[in-house]
Amino acid sequence: MKRLILLSLATISIAAAPKKQSAAIDLRRFAPNLQRLECVDPDISPTKKPKMVSKFGFRSHPIFGIPKMHTGIDFDGKTGDTIFATAPGVIVQSKYHNSYGNFILIDHCSVSSFYAHLSKSFVHVGQLVTKHQAIGLMGTSGSVTGSHVHYEIRDKNNKQINPIKYLK
Ligand SMILES: [Zn+2]
Repeated sequence: MKRLILLSLATISIAAAPKKQSAAIDLRRFAPNLQRLECVDPDISPTKKPKMVSKFGFRSHPIFGIPKMHTGIDFDGKTGDTIFATAPGVIVQSKYHNSYGNFILIDHCSVSSFYAHLSKSFVHVGQLVTKHQAIGLMGTSGSVTGSHVHYEIRDKNNKQINPIKYLK
């Protein structure tokens, strides 16, 4: 059975990267847009024809060549491929970061999903989105070696967890 809960209007802290704390986001300013949100965890991939090219975990970094934690899953594709929301949620971040490029963070109540290196974002902070909704386009923004989407699942503490169990 699907749960319906009202998102807390408390201030929550969202960081763009685990070691770098960004400004807290006050969900109260989303209040006009916050309705009863269907709280469902992501269970699809963010691209139409998912081609996983890099898994979650330690790997040799593609640019620096040293072992480094890969905090998400990379899906290969072409610049301009549509990126889809993997569950219903509210957009809590849509902006640019030096490494992640153009990224989007969506809160789904118990977890959030994160999409990086986009060429374009179609959404704005505070917007409610549905599962399968087109939220942006794949690209090469930020530090990348080629066109792909870097996809993360984060827990309540904004810590990245393995997205594999959130894919069908
Ligand atoms: Zn990645």
